Amino acid sequence: MHPHLWYPFTAAKTAPTPLKVKAGQGVWLELDNGQRILDCISSWWVNLHGHSHPAIAAAIAHQAQTLEHVIFAGFSHDPAEQLAEKLVQKLPGDLNRVFFSDNGSTAVEVALKMAYQYWHNQGQARSTFLAFEGAYHGDTFGAMAVGARSLFNAAFDTLMFAVDTVPFPATFQGDETVAEQERQSLAAIATQIDQAPHAYAALILEPLVQGAGGMRMCRPEFVAQVVQCCRERGVLVIFDEVMTGFGRTGDWFACLKAGVQPDLICLSKGLTGGFLPLSVTVATETIYQGFYSDEPQKTLYHGHSYTANPLGCAAALASWDLTTAAEPQFQALAALHHQGLARLRHHKGVTQCRVMGTIAAFNWVTDQPGYLNQWGQWIRQQAIAQGLLLRPLGNVLYVLPPYCITAAELSQVYDGIDKILAQAPD
Ligand code: PMP
Repeated sequence: MHPHLWYPFTAAKTAPTPLKVKAGQGVWLELDNGQRILDCISSWWVNLHGHSHPAIAAAIAHQAQTLEHVIFAGFSHDPAEQLAEKLVQKLPGDLNRVFFSDNGSTAVEVALKMAYQYWHNQGQARSTFLAFEGAYHGDTFGAMAVGARSLFNAAFDTLMFAVDTVPFPATFQGDETVAEQERQSLAAIATQIDQAPHAYAALILEPLVQGAGGMRMCRPEFVAQVVQCCRERGVLVIFDEVMTGFGRTGDWFACLKAGVQPDLICLSKGLTGGFLPLSVTVATETIYQGFYSDEPQKTLYHGHSYTANPLGCAAALASWDLTTAAEPQFQALAALHHQGLARLRHHKGVTQCRVMGTIAAFNWVTDQPGYLNQWGQWIRQQAIAQGLLLRPLGNVLYVLPPYCITAAELSQVYDGIDKILAQAPD
């Protein structure tokens, strides 16, 4: 560990020393010691097209020679306008006002502020939110508040605003259990809102897949029912597609797969293909109109120094074209994941194998609780020894590589996992 760095997650004395990375190319990372490691998790679901993609690098280099940065308050530029056009054309319905910020957490923060102030501007004090158990929306205060309480945010418990939560009906518990859980979840949403019809500014949901909560997947039909339930009761819906966006669920966005339109959507991670930190919160025209006024207090006073940074927007435009080209891969990846998981099912501890588009995951039966449990640490270390970057979420192992992974490389990933699980402690 470098003595002058404060690494995230690794401050604990027991944490392994961070591995030093020298270079990245496609799905491969090269460590300082020359070892090559296959990035099976797209560096926390960011690198859609692998590392150092030449097309994105070239777009950034070109933009850097033209306009590297200008404050976005009072100014505009082509890269931001072109990216907004693309987003609005692809997103459903009238999600057509694009607000830029810098990362997933702030995209969520902005969505919460927009939802809250939208009602406030109409003279309604809707001071709480509905969220799902097990959710993760980021590490800023608002994003933490609507996420599940955990080891990661326990220290700030008293500072976080209260939210009401409903169960997330994850699939792979048997059809009947899922149907029952969906009924309970929808009933809980309806009951909570009906008990206090003007209390909730919005419901926030990671549609189709709860990422950090353990790659827990729900059915598209359920997502559609949640939206309908909220809409009938006049509560706004925020989709946090920071993880699910840009093809991860097999469609460009989970909202398209579910056939619904939220009032606000948050996107980041894959947006720039991993090159620069950038995010957007896209709002409907109705929400935007709630701020568009002669009264200064109705304005959304939120802006970052790096808002809509031209380099980030140029990277996003280049990444967009690569995602368009990768679209035919989505189904092929899903099929390869199914084949890969089928090879792991014989292990006694493997349960709940699941695939959603380009995301595959399974649970490992262990009595070791907790997010950073020993099983996970052990898997991570064994994976490195096998030349794989894997990051267990509690007792969940997932495979979420860049779209450019070849069938042979993905097969190699599942071979590696198979070998590791063969030696796994109970
Ligand atoms: N929302 C979701 C669904 C996420 O998965 C994450 C990051 N894991 C975030 C928000 C926060 O994004 P960031 O780390 O860029 O702040």
